[in-house]
Amino acid sequence: MFKPTTRHNIPSASSSNLDVKINKRNGSGKDLSGRYPFRLNFYERPPVLDITLEEFETCAIARLRVLSHIEALSHRSLPYPQFSAAVATYLKQHSPLGSNTARSANLEEERRRDEIGHWVLRLAFCRSPDLRARFVRTELALFKHRFETDDVTERAAFLRSLEFDWQLVDDGEKALYADKLKKCLWGDKEEAFKSESWFKVPWYSVPDLVGSRKVFINGGMAYVPQTLQISLVLQAFGSRLEKALELTAKNLPRLDEDERLGPVIDHLASSFLSGLGASDYQASGEAGSGSVVTAEMVDDVANRHFPPCMRNLYGRLKRDHHLKHFGRLQLTLFLKGIGLPLDEAIVFWRKMYGASMSDDKFNKEYKYNIRHSYGQEGRRANYPPKSCQQILTQNQPGTQDSHGCPFRHFSPENLTTFLTSTYPELDRSSPEMREIMDSVKASHYHVACTRVFEVTHKLKKGEGLGKDGESVSHPNKYADRSREMEREKLDAIKAKEEEDEPMS
Ligand code: SF4
Repeated sequence: MFKPTTRHNIPSASSSNLDVKINKRNGSGKDLSGRYPFRLNFYERPPVLDITLEEFETCAIARLRVLSHIEALSHRSLPYPQFSAAVATYLKQHSPLGSNTARSANLEEERRRDEIGHWVLRLAFCRSPDLRARFVRTELALFKHRFETDDVTERAAFLRSLEFDWQLVDDGEKALYADKLKKCLWGDKEEAFKSESWFKVPWYSVPDLVGSRKVFINGGMAYVPQTLQISLVLQAFGSRLEKALELTAKNLPRLDEDERLGPVIDHLASSFLSGLGASDYQASGEAGSGSVVTAEMVDDVANRHFPPCMRNLYGRLKRDHHLKHFGRLQLTLFLKGIGLPLDEAIVFWRKMYGASMSDDKFNKEYKYNIRHSYGQEGRRANYPPKSCQQILTQNQPGTQDSHGCPFRHFSPENLTTFLTSTYPELDRSSPEMREIMDSVKASHYHVACTRVFEVTHKLKKGEGLGKDGESVSHPNKYADRSREMEREKLDAIKAKEEEDEPMS
């Protein structure tokens, strides 16, 4: 399938292998009648490409983020238009895929990356029935979204290219079963019947339509109206993908022996299992969300903006004047991310340990570690704050530890007590609390955390972090967004006051 090369940053040989002709219509200068004639793709032919290891990983991570985002949105029970709008916004920003008429897009490259990402993730997600099912579900949602938003002419051409063996119902048969077929239509049935055309397919290939009684069944065939064609297409996409994944699983042991690809694939699978794509948090400069936090300010910022994991750590530190190694590390890196400079971090930790520790012990044993976390000692690496995925999956906490994610690592009773005592907006018997606990039960920890953010920031269900319905994937994103929202509110009040001020 792939021929990964260890040469990084070299142009792909595939581009030179492809016929490059000037296609004035699509404006990209690439010949779209070749490998990627359509925006939609059933991914039937494995790509025979010469790609770099870097591309192998980056394309897969980009697609993993999209699928994780879709999965997170689908667990939040949003109305379909809101779900679809959130997917559209995310795709536009993170994984655009233009139609042939898109003028400025680099279609060839977009489609190439899309294809590579899909095929690499097949390798990662074919390993278990659970992973396969989740992959097929989210890929289906992505395909459905693209199908619905595709250019109508291009979509029709794409469907023709698939050469489905659907039988078109001819006029004679249509007239013969007119009464039965009309029952499957909505609105003005007579009018709809005249313009509608039907396909015949084996009834078991459209279980959703049969289950919802949307089709007429006769002689083992389901009569599917053109308007419900999408069900047929999705069914075909899903079943082909399922079969292909099972086939890939059988061949996977050979790939496991590859020392270069094995770790990448393992990492992708574990990210998805924890319910999160690789986190894309980037602190905006040293000060995280853009403003410096001092040691004095931490308490106030914690009460208003820390996510549950950090509220828990900070609460334990305040109570015990001590945190064990991984707890200290999780909190130190988080504080660095929100904008606590090194000198202020030293003041903060010294104050928190208080009289329980001598200056000498602090300087000898703890100051070094803080400086190390800030990249000032040892290898001088600038360690980034830990993402939810890392917190959820690495260094599982023991009974004496306080690091980790409360949604994953607390018992249901402890979690309920912690949340209700930390957030006055949450009531033990409220519907919101039930939703949070249901998400935890289903192992959707980031969905539970996102719901806490919505409730505590007076956002409607489905608004997520208040930006495109985004879910929590990083504690620092939680805190940054919370501070940003507060700033927006204050700016709005200030602007209103200035507006209301009488002119002198
Ligand atoms: S989901 Fe992430 S941000 Fe929320 S509590 Fe868990 S680790 Fe922290």
